[in-house]
Amino acid sequence: MDEELLLALLNSTPVVDGVRTETLEPDAELRAGRDILQAVVRGDLPPSALTPLLAGVTSHPSISEEGRLTWTIHAPQDRLIRAIVAWDELERSRPGRLRACANHECALFLLDRSKSNNARWCSMATCGNKLKARRHYQRTRSESPAEST
Ligand SMILES: [Zn+2]
Repeated sequence: MDEELLLALLNSTPVVDGVRTETLEPDAELRAGRDILQAVVRGDLPPSALTPLLAGVTSHPSISEEGRLTWTIHAPQDRLIRAIVAWDELERSRPGRLRACANHECALFLLDRSKSNNARWCSMATCGNKLKARRHYQRTRSESPAEST
């Protein structure tokens, strides 16, 4: 399964110093497809928005030496299609596990593999601690509004 490929594609627009940066090669079709996939995972677009990205995709059956039927997908945008297939498999096998980071200033996505299914940050070390620290700072400030340092 192409989970890592899917995550890498979704996470190809990290925010660096407050600016959304592009890390994909200059391939307009791939970037546009990635943007749609990001919007679908965020819930900003319905999953059917992915349909146009599947244009030109074909699947060919073959029978292996062991007698197994396998389908090989041929696609103009191979990486994009593999990511969409992985997304589809995830939605079926582990619905809701793939989600955007809870830090709204962060453009990354995470795949929650925890038993409790309550992971919220792409990384505890970056977004998790940053937001906790900010909340703590705001809480301390609102508790003692007259105090200044
Ligand atoms: Zn994050």
